Amino acid sequence: MDNKDLYDQLQELEVSQTAQLAKLKGLQDHLAQILEQNSELKIENQHLRIRLQELEDTATDKDDPTKGLSKSRKHLEKLYEEGFHVCTYFYGSRRENKESCAFCLDVIYGDHQSR
Ligand SMILES: [Zn+2]
Repeated sequence: MDNKDLYDQLQELEVSQTAQLAKLKGLQDHLAQILEQNSELKIENQHLRIRLQELEDTATDKDDPTKGLSKSRKHLEKLYEEGFHVCTYFYGSRRENKESCAFCLDVIYGDHQSR
């Protein structure tokens, strides 16, 4: 192989590597999007389960305030402790640095029994 062929082949390799790298970046972006969407869906799913639990709770028996938090509030508390907002204001978003949120705390511990 003469020097020109070598040079041409290296050029070719560089072009194809650049294309591969762009493709890799594209796939990484796509994966990041999917993971983000996945976690949003997961949170939404948990919220829907909680809502269903609440509906079941009110359909069967009323929450007994003497036995502490209702099942649905415990779910919310768990979500909150995992670092997600459970309030309507920041629904499903992450709590930055696990900052406390008065709205969330009101949803979990507030005194507004379902009627
Ligand atoms: Zn909140």
